[in-house]
Amino acid sequence: MALIKCPECGKEISDRAKACINCGCPIGPASNGVLRVQLNSFLKLIGNMSITVTFNGVTKRITRGYYDEFVVPADGKTRNCNITCVHGLLDGRVFNIPIQSGESKKIFITYNDGKFGSNKWEYRDELYVTK
Ligand SMILES: [Zn+2]
Repeated sequence: MALIKCPECGKEISDRAKACINCGCPIGPASNGVLRVQLNSFLKLIGNMSITVTFNGVTKRITRGYYDEFVVPADGKTRNCNITCVHGLLDGRVFNIPIQSGESKKIFITYNDGKFGSNKWEYRDELYVTK
């Protein structure tokens, strides 16, 4: 155990405390977040569809109906999540989504072939409650 200074009131407290005993400020190592990226589709014609996701130096390819997850470091940095969508040879779209330090988020990419052009690729996200 070590003593650290409370970022709020400046008094010394245990680094294992969940909150400052003086002022109640939440303490403790910030925990990493989880980024989940999923590919859905409203697809009439089955095609060769996938997304390639790069986050924090890790690249993963995700196919239709599946998801994969990435660790979001809690280090104070904001990073871009780069998503490149591919459907056959014709249709592609790139999303760049800023992910905050330690954030947990679910990203849903949906291919909707009822639409034209790059608008076929739709983006949605929501908070990912992991605990
Ligand atoms: Zn305090």
